[in-house]
Amino acid sequence: MAWATFYRCWTRWLALILLSLLGAGAWGDTIKLSDQFTSEAIGRHLRVLDDTTGKMSLADVQAHRHDSRWEDRHSDNLNFGYSRSALWLHGELVNLASQQQDWLLGMRYPLLDYLDIYVVWPDGRVQHHASGDRRPFHTRSLEDRNFYFKLNLRQGDHVQLYVRVQGQGSLQAPLEVSTPAAYEHRAHVEQLLLGIYSGALLAMLVYNLLLCISLRDKAYLYYVAYISLFGLTQYTLSGLAFETLWPNAPIWGNQAAPIFMGLAGWSLVLFSRQFLNLHTHWPRADLAMLALQWLYLAAVPETFVLPYAIPIKIVTLATIVTPVLLLIITVGLLRKGVQQARYFLAAFTVLLLGVLLTALHMFGIVQRNFLTEYSMQIGSMLEFTLLSFALAHRVKLAREENERLQMAHALELEHRVQDRTRDLDKAMNELTRANERLQELTEQDALTGLKNRMFLSERMPEVWRQAQRWHTPVSVLMLDVDHFKRVNDDHGHLAGDEALKQVAGVIAHAVQRPGDHAVRYGGEEFLVLLPQTHTVGAAHIAETIRLGVQSLDFRHEGKPIPLTVSIGLASVVPTIDLPPQALLNAADQLLYQAKQKGRNRCALNPEALATMPRKSGAAHKPQAQHAPATPSESLKPAAGQPDPASSARS
Ligand code: GH3
Ligand code: MG
Ligand code: MG
Repeated sequence: MAWATFYRCWTRWLALILLSLLGAGAWGDTIKLSDQFTSEAIGRHLRVLDDTTGKMSLADVQAHRHDSRWEDRHSDNLNFGYSRSALWLHGELVNLASQQQDWLLGMRYPLLDYLDIYVVWPDGRVQHHASGDRRPFHTRSLEDRNFYFKLNLRQGDHVQLYVRVQGQGSLQAPLEVSTPAAYEHRAHVEQLLLGIYSGALLAMLVYNLLLCISLRDKAYLYYVAYISLFGLTQYTLSGLAFETLWPNAPIWGNQAAPIFMGLAGWSLVLFSRQFLNLHTHWPRADLAMLALQWLYLAAVPETFVLPYAIPIKIVTLATIVTPVLLLIITVGLLRKGVQQARYFLAAFTVLLLGVLLTALHMFGIVQRNFLTEYSMQIGSMLEFTLLSFALAHRVKLAREENERLQMAHALELEHRVQDRTRDLDKAMNELTRANERLQELTEQDALTGLKNRMFLSERMPEVWRQAQRWHTPVSVLMLDVDHFKRVNDDHGHLAGDEALKQVAGVIAHAVQRPGDHAVRYGGEEFLVLLPQTHTVGAAHIAETIRLGVQSLDFRHEGKPIPLTVSIGLASVVPTIDLPPQALLNAADQLLYQAKQKGRNRCALNPEALATMPRKSGAAHKPQAQHAPATPSESLKPAAGQPDPASSARS
């Protein structure tokens, strides 16, 4: 889209330039100065003689007045390119005005080295005006950056005009005649335009200088250098620097042009390379630019050692090459997707047109006209505006990139925090699991896998408190393997261990209800804690275990080892003053009784707790529910067991 607009502008520009180039004048003879005459270029009325030796004097030229070497150029804008000859112009002036008056003969090319104007009166009187920028400024008859010469003609005066121009630079001779009033008017308008241009340039310079200070961006520094040096170049080329800065230093005045042009070009290349980040984006193009940069810079020392014509030609050539090269580079960069090249391209297309026109004009290919005269000013102003815009755009791109990076960074940080949190959670979970496992291990008996006494000591008070609050019974079975010493003695410790595992298995199988716990209490002693279980329920479990153990077909090395257990069962609804140890003690005592009665049986006696010590110290009679009718049959040892009477007793 932007491209289409851009190219439309391009073609419009071209059309404009071509139209203005077509303005060649008609050929005439004597220049007639009438009352109506104000200001006119007189090139087409002049004949030109090329003095290749540069040694001809006015007398020589006058002698060859009718020589065929004189030629008409048919143009007002006499341009001889980089000719090293001296060129003589000849014309005739006649004052047809109604009165005697002053006329101004002007040479509107401030870089002309040597200018000699001879006015020859019919009586042979010669008026000579020697000027040019190789001569001090005070030699001029009018204080002007261009060369003006005042000529007073009486009515009907007919004079011969001989003008000699010579120089090492681009040789041009835009000669004009104007009335003093027209001259004043023109100077006034020119001053105004120049003021606008200088003001704009200065504003641009100050603005970018401030930006340079605040942003500390190298590109801005080079840009500010470029604007300054470009401004100085323009000031020098327009002849104003000679008029105002060094009017008495014509040699330096001539050297200044290639020096400032070289430095301006140098800073422009430096700026472009930095701005486009060419070294990174396109190293080969950067190399070409680097070469150009040195070519520009070399003009400075060259100016001091070589004849003026050489460095000025080199920098002028470089000035044509630069925008072309930049155009190619920016197009290439745009194709590579380098965004900041966009406005740069626009800026240099405009500059290129300006420079191209000026340079073509300097080489004498294009004739003088309004566009060639002001093309540098118009082009450079547009260029500077576009470049300032390009720099701002670059800052914008940098900010966007920064924001993108910040966002990416924040996102990455968030991810990392999430990852870390996840890792931490995982570690915490593992730690918790390890802790639980550790807890289990510390509460578990290694041999049988049942809970151990540590577990009991932690769990028991809790069970006890709940039972106290809800007035629910707690039962405890205290179990001991009968004649276990014999198992060890007869079959060895390993057999004993295996037997203990088998018994534990039976107990664990019988104790399934959640909240019930099977505990290995001592060597071959086990304890079953049954919360919310009264004697009948507990007796049922006790009997299940006893029968289970009895019916175990335990063998070691093929030999059967009969196993039995004795059980003491105690139940109570705990009162506030009863400690849990009392229940355990009662169960232990009952176990002792079961052993006494002949083993392989369960002893239960509701009265057992009555004699137990209480916190208050007073004996407490157990409540009625502690002495339920025991299904004595169920508690009787199975047939074949030694003492069935013992269980019946309880
Ligand atoms: P009873 O209880 O019927 O009166 O007779 P007992 O032989 O079981 O009596 P005692 O309490 O004197 O013997 C217990 C034996 O149990 C003593 C000890 O060697 C054995 N014992 C204790 N803990 C273990 C163990 O972890 N493994 C093995 N193999 N034996 C153990
Ligand atoms: Mg025992
Ligand atoms: Mg024992």
